[in-house]
Amino acid sequence: IKDNISLANMPEGYTGEGFFTTKLSDVVGLARKNSLWPMPFATSCCGIEFMALMASHYDLARFGAERLGFSPRQCDLLMVMGTIAKKMGPIVKQVYLQMAEPRWVLAMGACASSGGIFDTYSVLQGIDQVIPVDVYVPGCPPRPEAVLDGFMRIQDLVGKESIRRRNGEQYKALMQSYGIQ
Ligand code: SF4
Repeated sequence: IKDNISLANMPEGYTGEGFFTTKLSDVVGLARKNSLWPMPFATSCCGIEFMALMASHYDLARFGAERLGFSPRQCDLLMVMGTIAKKMGPIVKQVYLQMAEPRWVLAMGACASSGGIFDTYSVLQGIDQVIPVDVYVPGCPPRPEAVLDGFMRIQDLVGKESIRRRNGEQYKALMQSYGIQ
């Protein structure tokens, strides 16, 4: 060990010549958060705002997420945007279940988050009635800047997540509360 620093008293984050120390979960988190593959689930007007997010001005590609997927099995971030009718609820859940772990969910806009202005018998009052949601982005529709902010909050969660959390009792209990084994 260089400079007489022993393993026992090596300060955290020491960056001596030729090596540095870190945690495996930090490396995995760094890689995951900068290579998210979103799956857009768009049903109405918020989906139009999402197009602006993907275009050159706001450019989600800057965050490593330009590769949109339309197969849930190849995606790790479900972005639900738009009014979700109650009949669509089981389909949203099925798409979520088809995604491999680890997976995250962003509810974009008032409708996906809470039903929005459609407080009616036919509209799901928030997708968190059928699947767990990690980040809610308010607005009707939210501006692309707000969605970018929500995306960056997802990145924070991804980067800080323990690679073991998804085997933890708390996570299993959350899934069971949604009837997911
Ligand atoms: Fe449309 Fe507003 Fe609902 Fe978005 S939140 S889908 S803009 S009504």
